[in-house]
Amino acid sequence: VCDKGKKNQQSLPVVEMNICIIGAGPAGCAAALQLDKLGISCTLIDKSKFPRDKICGDAESGKVVSLLNRIDPEIISSLEKKTIQIGSWGVKFVAPNGRSLRVPFRKNIDQATQPPGFICRRIDFDNHLAECVRKKNAVQFLEGMNIGDYEKSKNGWIIYDDKKNIIAETRLLIIADGAHSHFARHYANLEQEPEHYCAGLRVYYEGVSDLDEENFIELFFINKTLPGYFWIFPLSNGCANVGIGVHSKKVSREKINLKKALNDIIENHPAIKLRFANAKAIDSVRGYGLPLGSKKRKISGDHYLLTGDAASLIDPFTGEGIGNAILSGIEAAKIAATCTTKNDFSSTATQVYDKNVYDHLWQELQISSQLKRLAGYPWLFNMVINKANKSKLLSETISGMFEDLDLRSTLKNPSFYLKLLFSKQ
Ligand SMILES: Cc1cc2nc3c(=O)[nH]c(=O)nc-3n(C[C@H](O)[C@H](O)[C@H](O)COP(=O)(O)OP(=O)(O)OC[C@H]3O[C@@H](n4cnc5c(N)ncnc54)[C@H](O)[C@@H]3O)c2cc1C
Repeated sequence: VCDKGKKNQQSLPVVEMNICIIGAGPAGCAAALQLDKLGISCTLIDKSKFPRDKICGDAESGKVVSLLNRIDPEIISSLEKKTIQIGSWGVKFVAPNGRSLRVPFRKNIDQATQPPGFICRRIDFDNHLAECVRKKNAVQFLEGMNIGDYEKSKNGWIIYDDKKNIIAETRLLIIADGAHSHFARHYANLEQEPEHYCAGLRVYYEGVSDLDEENFIELFFINKTLPGYFWIFPLSNGCANVGIGVHSKKVSREKINLKKALNDIIENHPAIKLRFANAKAIDSVRGYGLPLGSKKRKISGDHYLLTGDAASLIDPFTGEGIGNAILSGIEAAKIAATCTTKNDFSSTATQVYDKNVYDHLWQELQISSQLKRLAGYPWLFNMVINKANKSKLLSETISGMFEDLDLRSTLKNPSFYLKLLFSKQ
C-alpha cells in the first residue's frame, strides 16, 4: 500500500478503518460520542494517555453544556456528581481604568437552578469525556499512540506513527489534534497567520484572595494586553486558573515577552497585586496557541474533515474554543454518517461540512472579531463599563450577548457607542 519509500515498509497486512479520529480532546471525543449515538463504529487515537493536561483557562460555557446535553444528558449529569467542577454564574469585566462590571449569564428556563456554565480543570474535564468514550462499544480508543504523518491512498489516507510505522488505512480522517495540527498545516494547507492567532499562558495559583462568591470568571482588560486580557478563574479546590491571552500580531509587533507581562501584572497592577499578596504559583507558567476563527477556511477535503482548533474555530473576542470544538465534532460525525451510508468520502461528499459548521458559527465569529477590534480602544472600554454601571438596560444588554446573537450584533455597531457617548446617564 505504501510505495513512496520515505516510510517504513511493512510486510503485515494494513489494518483498515472506516473512520479514524486523530485527537481525543473535546472535538475528537464529541465526534466519537456522536458517531456511537448514530450507530457507527470508529477508532479514536490520542498521543497521550488520559488523564492528561491541556493548557487552557478551564472555563466551560453554557454552549458546552447544551451541546453535550444534545449528545447525551448523562455526560453533564455524571460530571455534576463529581467534585472536580464548580458552576459559574457570570463574568466580571474590569476596564483599563479599573472600574468593573459584574454580568450574570442569562439563564435558560431549564437552567433555573443549574449554573449556565462551569469551570473544570482540563485534566479532569477531558478525562471525564475520555471515560464516557471508553464506555462505548462502537469506539475503539487507542491511547498513547503518537501519529507522525499521513499519506494519501486511493481509498483514503494511510496513517503512520511517529516512528514511521503504518498504523492503518482509513476511508475518513477526522482531524482533532488541536492547535498544532500536523495534518491541518501540511495536508489541508491551513497557515498559522498572526492576525488570526493568539498566544496564551496559564498558571495555577493557590491563595488568591477575593475570588468571586458566585464563581464569576474575571477578565481584566489592561492597556498593555488589549484587545487581549488577563484572567482569574476560580477552581473547585479553592485554587485559581490565572493567565493571559494576547494577539500574536501584537506580541511580535511590540516584542512582548508574555511571561514577563504576566508576572508584571501579578506583581505590579494596583488592584491585582493585592489579591496575590499571599498567593503562590503551584505549577510553572505554560503557553499554547489559540487559532482564531476570524477567517473562514476550507475545513474539509478528499477523505478528511478538520475539527476544533485544527480547524481554527476559537472565538476571537472571548478565546473560547471548547464549545466550538464540540460543535464541529458533532457536525463531523453527522457528515461521516452520511458518507458511510452513501459510500462516498470524496471532497464533493465532505464539502457540506464547511457549510454546516459555518452556518452555525460564522455570524457569531464575525461579531466577535469586530468586538475584539473595538476592545482595542481603552477609552471605549472605559466608557462602556462606566455607563453600564449606571444603566440597568446596558448591563442587561451585555449580559444577554452571551446567549443572544442579535444583542451581540448591537454591541458591534459603532452607532451603539455613539448613542452611549451622548446619553445622559
Ligand atoms: C491559554 C489558553 C486558554 C484557553 N482558555 C479557554 C477557556 O477558558 N475556555 C474555552 O472554551 N477555551 C479555551 N481555550 C481554547 C481551548 O483550549 C481549545 O479551543 C480546545 O481545547 C480545542 O479542543 P480540540 O479538541 O480541538 O483540541 P485539544 O483540546 O488541543 O485536543 C487535541 C488532542 O489531540 C491530541 N494530539 C495532538 N497531536 C497528536 C498526534 N500527533 N497524535 C495523536 N494525538 C494527538 C492531543 O494529545 C489532545 O488530546 C484556551 C486555549 C489556551 C491556549
